[in-house]
Parts: sequence; structure tokens; C-alpha cells
Amino acid sequence: GLAEITKKVDSVCPYCGVGCQLTWNVGPDGQGGERIHTVTGRDGPANQGRLCVKGRYGFDYIHNPRRLTVPLVRRHGVPKSPADIEAVKSGAKPLSELFREASWDEALALAAGGFARIRDAAQPGFDSPLAGFGSAKGSNEEAYLFQKLVRQVLHSSHVDHCTRLCHASSVAALLEGIGSGAVSNPVADVAQAEVIFLIGANPTVNHPVAASFIKNAVDAGATLIIADPRRQQLTRRAKWHLQFRPDTDVALLNGLLHVIIAEGLVDEGFIAARVQGYEALKASVAEATPERMAEICGIPADTLREVARTFATARSAMILWGMGVSQHVYGTDNARGLIALSLITGQIGRPGTGLHPLRGQNNVQGASDAGLIPMMLPNYQRVSEAAVRAQFEALWHSDIDPRPGMTVVEIMHAAHEGHIRGLFVEGENPAMSDPDLNFARQALCELQHLVVQDIFATETALLADVILPASAQPEKWGTYTNTDRLLQVGRPAVAPPGQARQDLWVIEQLARRLGAGWNYWRDEDGDGQAAAEAPVARVYEEMRGVMAPLAGVPWTRLQREEAVVTPAPAEDAPGQAVVFIDGFPTADGRARLVPTQFRPGVERTDSEYPFVLTTGRVLEHWHTGAMTRHASMLDAITPQALVSLHPLDAASQGVSDGAMVRLQTHHGEVVARASISDQVQRGQLFIPFAFWEAAANTLTGDALDAVAKIPGFKVTAARLQPA
Ligand code: SF4
Repeated sequence: GLAEITKKVDSVCPYCGVGCQLTWNVGPDGQGGERIHTVTGRDGPANQGRLCVKGRYGFDYIHNPRRLTVPLVRRHGVPKSPADIEAVKSGAKPLSELFREASWDEALALAAGGFARIRDAAQPGFDSPLAGFGSAKGSNEEAYLFQKLVRQVLHSSHVDHCTRLCHASSVAALLEGIGSGAVSNPVADVAQAEVIFLIGANPTVNHPVAASFIKNAVDAGATLIIADPRRQQLTRRAKWHLQFRPDTDVALLNGLLHVIIAEGLVDEGFIAARVQGYEALKASVAEATPERMAEICGIPADTLREVARTFATARSAMILWGMGVSQHVYGTDNARGLIALSLITGQIGRPGTGLHPLRGQNNVQGASDAGLIPMMLPNYQRVSEAAVRAQFEALWHSDIDPRPGMTVVEIMHAAHEGHIRGLFVEGENPAMSDPDLNFARQALCELQHLVVQDIFATETALLADVILPASAQPEKWGTYTNTDRLLQVGRPAVAPPGQARQDLWVIEQLARRLGAGWNYWRDEDGDGQAAAEAPVARVYEEMRGVMAPLAGVPWTRLQREEAVVTPAPAEDAPGQAVVFIDGFPTADGRARLVPTQFRPGVERTDSEYPFVLTTGRVLEHWHTGAMTRHASMLDAITPQALVSLHPLDAASQGVSDGAMVRLQTHHGEVVARASISDQVQRGQLFIPFAFWEAAANTLTGDALDAVAKIPGFKVTAARLQPA
């Protein structure tokens, strides 16, 4: 029968950046405790009552018996080995062969002691041998406190998180071009757009509720243009699907810019008032005729002309993009092209226009805002600026390195070379998410001291010295910032299992053991096992003091209003959903155009590796699968990795649908099941990265975008044969 619901807790979805508001419906678990029985959608600004399959049915990962419930310490003399990942995950080796249980006191002492030894033995100065990866799944408060721990207490600037692997290039281009790395308009603005230009994104799978708003807008008359090498569900609603060749975004976009300029479709008034660098851009695309660009990107010249005219002459045109744009070794150039498209046509600064990089994780916007990136302190204040450092040095009573720290992939290389010796990973899973996994996993094994704080024994945790059991999102207080810059509240529905603790408590306990006099979590708040509101509010208020966009949102206002869009400078006024209405947040108020030229990527197909392999996500699974692979319904729907390949390629390779295939690249190989699909073009393969059994990033390379240091996950030369 239906479970008895004894408590309803209003909160937000723990998964994607859409930020749907929901209610956890809680009742007895039949064993004297409580569990979430069902989830219902709330009428939040980002979802209006809607939820996707992950939000509605993906919650029971928190009750999974594999949750970590007690601190674990590596057994004496047991070496670290990448082979243990498959051994433990497959059940061949019990976790207890690698780790023993420990008390919190012992585990925290070992975790902190390892960091202290490395920190204190290092040369005085700033070239720190310690690093930290925080999490875009954690709250703003956790992100803030984590980067503070690394900077103030570990005395390192090497702090980063998965934004490096998703939108780092978009953010770099946006900061350079328009002075702000966040979106200009919310997703819901598609309802006011005459033209929607969706490039390198598959929102039906990755941002499903956002996709439903796009569908509604198209049904109400908006023109949808999709540019993506793969087909997707929204393709049916698109007026054009520009199925361009992978890795030729710059050619496609320069072709569009050329047409708009050559045909006089630019917004001259807007350019004169708001934009600099137009003449240089014009010169740089003068040779990028549609005919020339068509040869590179594979889209006919006349189609490029029609699309350019449609975008430029629309009353309002909005650009949304995803990892298909950003995850390239020239990802920053790709985003520069989109920014130029928006600026020269004046399609920004009004409702239904603008630039919207769709954020993947629930709090990747907030985690970046809070300073979980190596070159910026909270609110994108550059560590290289003396006045910025002085403010934080006074607040934290600690010197801050004036040089930007290393990024995710650079930290892995530094670990391999012995420069980084200790790493604290909170809620991230680099042993699945990093490129060139064979290398990354080896580098993790080479660390002297790896501490992982998580809710499951992730692939990364299996290589750790100490594993600290943390709380899941429905077990704690916290604020989260969605892709629209909407600040929302997460509330606890149930207690964490066993001895698992609140993440903020754990971070603070480590800081105290490393000598910091922090006092956010006080005696009256308990021992971190039950969720407490007061410590989270204390961290939030400290963060608000150094982040101008939050100035008008004290904790009490957020609790009252549930959601406030940032920037919100004044307490008595709503935040700004659409920004750049009166100019850009740059020194002179003007945006800057940055010309780009098409260059072939580093991964090139040849007779030995004839396919282009793209990695990505599937509807039921989220990122490395740490949560969704433990959600019973989601894993039952999609239990394994499928490699998509075109019917003609399947025929030529002798592969039938459902057969096992061996995928090989210059970096590694996996075996997975084939799925014959016309969603990919001939010569293209697709594999999701959520499955340890066929870990997609074993196949990817770690060449980086020079500006943003993001790897080119979207393009790897590959070959495939029956397994
Ligand atoms: Fe959660 Fe995103 Fe689905 Fe909304 S669209 S329910 S935020 S996963």
C-alpha cells in the first residue's frame, strides 16, 4: 500500500543546473527511522511544478545500503592500485581488504596529520605541494569553506572543481568579452525569444525541464535552430538542424559572422555604444565566406546565409549552449564566436535575447561564484590583484599566493611529477571524470596523502588513504545557485546514515586540527550528525560579506522568499534576472569582441583511428554515476553503457545491434555494448561517461585549451571492432 507521509520538506533537486524546486515526502522506513518515499514538484521559478525522471525518481540513492556510514582508513601496507577500482566495483574484492573502520577522531587526526606533515615540510613560500578539489554538487557554503580551507589552512592556491571540465572555456570567454561569467538571461526567457539558437547541447537529456520550456516556446511560435553534430529529440521541432562536422564550430560561427557583416545585418547603434573591437573582428572574418566555411564544417553555404539572416533580423534571439561548445581544445574560441554573434547583432540586454551556457551540475554556478577556482577568490575577484588579496588576507589572517593556482588536469600532472603530494577531494570523482584515466588514476595512486570525503566509496575513494563519510544533499541545509543565477534553499529531509557527518562539520574539523581557529559549528549545534541550520547560516553570512551579488539577500530573506535571483544588491528589491541592460560590467562598460580563426584540433582521424568519438551523458545518469548508479529506478532503466554508431558504420564493421564492441584510442580501450543509431553521423561514435564498467575517459586525451585549461572531451580519434 501507499507509505504514510509524516513530513513534507520543501527543497531543491540535487541533480542538474536547472534547479527545480521540489518537496521531499518523508515517512517511516519500517525500521524505526525515516526515508523519503516520494518527491513532488513545486512551483519554483525554474520549473513551475515540473520535474524530470532524475528529480522525481532518482532520490533513493541516499538510502542505498552501499552508503558510507563509518570513516575508513587504508590498511597498513596495502598499496594503492588502479586495478582495485574494477576489483571492488565488480564485487571481486571486498572494500574491507583495502580499508579498516576507524573512529572519527582517528580518521580526522590521520587526514589532518598527513596534510600537516606535507605542508610543514614544504619550503616556506607559496609553491604548495597540497591541492583540493571541491564540488559543484555541494552547497555554496561548502564551496566557500572548502576554498577557504585550501587557501587559508593548507596554504595553497591549487583549488579547483569540475567546472574546469565543463564550462571553463565558456566562462573564460565570457569574462574576457563581457566581464561576467554567468548567464545573461534565464532559460525561461525562451518564451520571449523569436529565435532560439541551441548549439552543442542536448537539453532533453541533460536539462530536461529546460528542454520542456524550449518545446513550449517553439510550439508557441519561436524558431528553433539547432547546431550539433548529433541528432536529438528537439531536432524534430527545429527549423534547421546544422549537423556540422565535429570540432568545426569556429568555421560554422565565422561563416555566420561573415554573412551578417557582409549583408549589413549588424546592429550598428549597439556596436557604437556598447562594443569594442568590431573592426578587427570584421577584418578577421572577411575571408570566412560561407562557401569556404561550408567546406570545413559541412553545412551548405546557402543554409549558413539563411540561418545568419534569421538570427540577425529577429526581434529577439537567444543563444543556449552546452559541453558540445566548451569541451574542446579550442573551446574558448568556440564561445568567443557565440559572444560575437550576440554582440554584433545587439541580441543581448533585453528579455528573450542573450547568452546562456547551460550549467550541468546543480551548483556549478554557485561553486564558481564562491571561489572554488584557482585564479579567483569569491565573486571572481582575481588573486593577482593586490587590493583583492588584501581584503581576504585581513578577513582570514593569512597570506594569499598572488599567482593563480593549478587547474584540475594540471594538478594530476603535478601529482605524477611529485610536485603535488597531498590532495583533498570533497564530493568529486576525478578517477572517472578526468581525461586519460589510466594516467589520472596512476597519478592519484602516486600521491603521498589522498583524503576523500563522499557519500559512496567512489572510484576515487578506492585510491585514498582516508575516506570520510559525508551527508547527501537531502540530509543537510545549504544554498544552491542554478544556471539562471537563482539562489535557492536546500533543506534536510532525513538524517545521514550511521556515523556519516555534515560536510561543513568535517571541513571545519579538519581546519581546526590543522591549526585554524574556526568556530562556525558550535557546541550547541551538535556533533555534525544531525543537520543544523545555524552553522550554515554563519558561513553564508561571512560569504555574503565578500560577495557583492549576495548583498541584498540575508539568510532570513532567502528562507522567506525561497528563491532570489542574483545579483541582488538591495534587500528591498528583486534581483536582476536579465542583465547588461545598461552596458557590461567591464572597466569602460563596453563588451570586447575577440576574433578567432579555425584551426584543426589535436585529435585527428586517420586510417588507423577512423572514427570521431564523443563522450557525454544520458537522461537517467548524472556525470560519473556516483549518485544515479545507486538510484534503483534510474539504474534499472539504464544499467549499462551503450556505444552509439551509425547503421552504415555498423554494417561496415560487422557489428550488430547489442553486440559487444572494443573501442580503442591512442589513450586506452573499453569494451561496451553497441547501439545502432541514426542520432550519430557516419564516422561518429558516442559513449556516456557514467559507467565504471566501460569508463569512457579511459579513451579521452588530456590536451588542454590554452586559455581555460579544459580538455577536449568531445573529440577523440577512435577505432572500433567486434569484441
Ligand atoms: Fe532535477 Fe534537473 Fe531534472 Fe529539474 S531538470 S528535476 S533540476 S535533474
